[in-house]
Amino acid sequence: MFSQFALHERLLKAVAELNFAEPTPVQTAAIPPALEGRDLRVIAQTGSGKTAAFVLPMLNRLMGDAKPRVNIRALILLPTRELAQQTLKQVELFSQFTFIKSGLITGGEDFKVQAAMLRKVPDVLIATPGRLLEHLNAGHLDFEQVEVLVLDEADRMLDMGFAEDVQRLAGECKRAHQTLLFSATSGGAGLREMIGSVLKDPLHLKLNSVGELNEGTRQQIITADHAYHKEQLVEWLLNHETYQKAIIFTNTRVQADRLYGRLVAKEFKAFVLHGDKDQKDRKLAIERLKQGGTKVLVATDVAARGLDVEGLDLVINFDMPCSGDEYVHRIGRTGRAGGEGLAVSLIGHGDWNLMSSIERYLKQNFERRTIKELKGTYQGPKKVKASGKAAGTKKKKVESKAGAKAPSKAPAKRKPARPKSDQPALVSQDGMAPLKRRKPAAGAGSASE
Ligand code: AMP
Repeated sequence: MFSQFALHERLLKAVAELNFAEPTPVQTAAIPPALEGRDLRVIAQTGSGKTAAFVLPMLNRLMGDAKPRVNIRALILLPTRELAQQTLKQVELFSQFTFIKSGLITGGEDFKVQAAMLRKVPDVLIATPGRLLEHLNAGHLDFEQVEVLVLDEADRMLDMGFAEDVQRLAGECKRAHQTLLFSATSGGAGLREMIGSVLKDPLHLKLNSVGELNEGTRQQIITADHAYHKEQLVEWLLNHETYQKAIIFTNTRVQADRLYGRLVAKEFKAFVLHGDKDQKDRKLAIERLKQGGTKVLVATDVAARGLDVEGLDLVINFDMPCSGDEYVHRIGRTGRAGGEGLAVSLIGHGDWNLMSSIERYLKQNFERRTIKELKGTYQGPKKVKASGKAAGTKKKKVESKAGAKAPSKAPAKRKPARPKSDQPALVSQDGMAPLKRRKPAAGAGSASE
């Protein structure tokens, strides 16, 4: 029950309006200390209800002390436009019975219109770092009176090259009474440095971290011979699986476009989302998917980040993502809020080592699946030594055929041999900052705390 929290009655009314009956674990853990004013560092994955975990205490603080609207009082920084838009919606829903007004600053929108919005001074500003800095440099902003600073998906912001921007913006909010930092993973040295410099005596909470994927999501792999074979498998899955909405991740824009073209030619109601698309296209894709006009979205990672679409119950990894954390971000889109989901990864010979290292990182064995009509020749590496849970146990005959082998004791040192066409771009799919390619394996995700 949300009434267990010392939240303002107008916020509780909004929570009831949204039909949130029980708080999620991250809300139960984070809301009470946040209401006490503590700085928090929370590890929680997308889909865990983390937005409400920081928005409700933040609004509660602003409610307590109604002031004339002359200063920005709370700032939420996040990595992508879509996540910012979704967060704005949540803030507006939670604050619908209050005087609190919010504003959004992201790239891809008209600078002058944004400057005009800033002149009206919203209480809460939700923003991506790059464009916000432009407004700061243009003298449109003053963060002197910011009381609460939220860094959402902080690990992602660093991955996208926003470290300096975030540090600078956090520095501008130095008088903030409270800072709440959320990330899906424990992050690396960069994140630890940021935590050290922006948080004061933080409470560390670790929930639903990497490796604790939604229990309702089945995870399978199907081996594939080449990109065309993968396209056939995608088509088969879309024709035979039961799903409301599906998302297919590719590592490159080119592959996304190619697959999209094929699906449209086969009369699937599909849309494609990647960094070459402008903001209008992106909004349209998300809107159509939400409303059900489109059932299938083909997307690259960065373009799809922060998507929260109801009924998304099938995720297909056309290519394996480059790290365990990225895998969790992708799979986190399905099986949300207790729903059932299916995640299928298509594994070519260039994906196998990555897949094995991600299995070990997550301490999970993905289910091996074969589609009779489309069985290829590649079935995994020839020599077999069972991986993960099966390690140390007697090998089953069927596994030796399927080749469920851990690549080696130290697979991190091996470079996955990707065929050229599947090579993921070294530059962010959005054409933003260069993405750091993380080392897969031995922790296919980031360093642990
Ligand atoms: P988030 O992790 O904040 O992106 O939230 C994921 C989804 O869960 C969003 O659609 C929220 O509206 C929904 N949600 C968050 N908290 C609750 C709750 N306590 N009960 C039901 N749904 C929730």
